[in-house]
Amino acid sequence: MNNESEDNLEEESEPAIEARKIYTEKSDPEVESLYGKYKRGKLILQSDFQRHFVWDAKKSSRLIESALLDIPLPVIYLSEEEDGKEIVIDGQQRLTSFFSFMDGVFPGGQTFRLNNLKVFQDLNKTAYKELNETLQDKIRYCKLRTITFNKDSNHDLKFEIFERLNSGAVSLNQQELRNCIYRGPYNELLKTLSSYEDFVSIVGHEPPRDRMRNIELVLRFAAFYHATYLQYKPPMLRFLNNEMEECRDITEKKSAELLNAFKNTTAIIRTLFGQHAFKRYYSGTSTNKPNGYWESQRFNASLFDILMFSFAKEDKGKIYQNLDSIREAFICLMTEDPEFIDSIERGTSGLKAVKQRFQKWTTILENIIGIGQKEPRCFSFKLKEELFKSDPTCAICGQRIQEIDDSAVDHIEQYWLGGKTIPQNARLTHRYCNTSRSKYDIATKSKNLSALLKKSSEKTTSNGDGYSKRKPTGFIFESEKFSVTQWNEMLLTLCSYLYDKYGKDFHVVLDMRGTKRKYFSTSKTGMVNPMQINNSNYFVETKWSADGTVNFCRDIIEMFGYDRTELVIECF
Ligand SMILES: [Zn+2]
Repeated sequence: MNNESEDNLEEESEPAIEARKIYTEKSDPEVESLYGKYKRGKLILQSDFQRHFVWDAKKSSRLIESALLDIPLPVIYLSEEEDGKEIVIDGQQRLTSFFSFMDGVFPGGQTFRLNNLKVFQDLNKTAYKELNETLQDKIRYCKLRTITFNKDSNHDLKFEIFERLNSGAVSLNQQELRNCIYRGPYNELLKTLSSYEDFVSIVGHEPPRDRMRNIELVLRFAAFYHATYLQYKPPMLRFLNNEMEECRDITEKKSAELLNAFKNTTAIIRTLFGQHAFKRYYSGTSTNKPNGYWESQRFNASLFDILMFSFAKEDKGKIYQNLDSIREAFICLMTEDPEFIDSIERGTSGLKAVKQRFQKWTTILENIIGIGQKEPRCFSFKLKEELFKSDPTCAICGQRIQEIDDSAVDHIEQYWLGGKTIPQNARLTHRYCNTSRSKYDIATKSKNLSALLKKSSEKTTSNGDGYSKRKPTGFIFESEKFSVTQWNEMLLTLCSYLYDKYGKDFHVVLDMRGTKRKYFSTSKTGMVNPMQINNSNYFVETKWSADGTVNFCRDIIEMFGYDRTELVIECF
């Protein structure tokens, strides 16, 4: 429930004034009268779901003793339904204790004999039937203060109040509260959908333990399906309550439509992701740990929202033709897009995060299944599969790639340098190694460094002038040789190296800026030709002349305390 509880933290806002109508009635019925209603099915203790009676015999006995001693008992809250029945919102444990005592057995079947009494010690081990009539009457005629919420009360406010009352150890969760408050055909529909096989399989929560949780997820789907993310307003709790309120008496036609959409999307997601549905994929984090992996436990409600929504109305056939690309695109989004990752990890029910994740994913999906596909920038899954089957070794770090989901097909010559998306230009790598590819080039150290140093210094001028008609072959920095073939590649490689080396301190580069444009930024906006540095949040401007690039590189190393001459350039 991690995500849900995070959601709740953000949810502090007042209900609209005109909606603040609540009608209550106070009463002091005797235990026997409540017991009678309960037996006739007019008083519903646990709505229609079975929550375990968690009080033990000792606690229940003490409640009975309190009654015998005329100690006032806490208020019991009831909710009146359209059909005249009353549902217990708060006080289930107490009422269950009284009723069980009168019945002689606990819900679990054990005999109820008083124990651990402090005042009436002589009554320990006594059952109700064995008490004398005076004491029995004392229990039967014991008055309990009840507050009943009239059926005309505003539901949302009722929910709010119940939630506040419900702070005890055995309180109802949000969906259990909804289950009490918004009874009707819609609630029944949600329950039906929640036990649908494809759904249970992909959410991985087994009923009955997670039954309420699954129902809440179905509600979450339905709310986004009906309102769409464009009408989403935090808090999530109220967004879901509104859905329950609005659809409470849903028509058969709308029910059928929701059912179809639900079946469609759950079937697609099951085919796409199986047990990995709604879980994060993490790529490796360093050269020593290049292997990526699927999150095994934590369910991500944000991923649930967008996936369930995105396939609800899509044609299955169209999707099944593009399964591999869709799967690949989704894994890429989870591993490579920092904004998307933020939107599923932090403040996930905030307006911005919700819009961000819906927009990003639906746009990508439309591009894949929409008409008029552009020239491929990605290699096909089939090629990836062939490469993986023939040799699952990472072409960058040389280590074994554990699973195909963690593999990326990399351009031997990078596409932004003109490398073509054709099989001859393909090699298999870890996702991690692919995104931090510059490290590879860094790792190709020169065997004959001093010779190179000597050679290259002859070829370079000292201050970045006169490179305009030349092409780089590499550069030397901090006694390491880096092979590059383009000026902007040199810039990006140098930045990647510094980013890896300086980590958190790398942000000093943000202070470098020109009069018209940014040199570095954490967003692409306002930049002419930004390139992302490794897998970081940083982008570097790469639109420079050859001389401009060399000068810029020297400025950068100066920022980190090097001398300008410590960057040695090799070129034709
Ligand atoms: Zn690797």
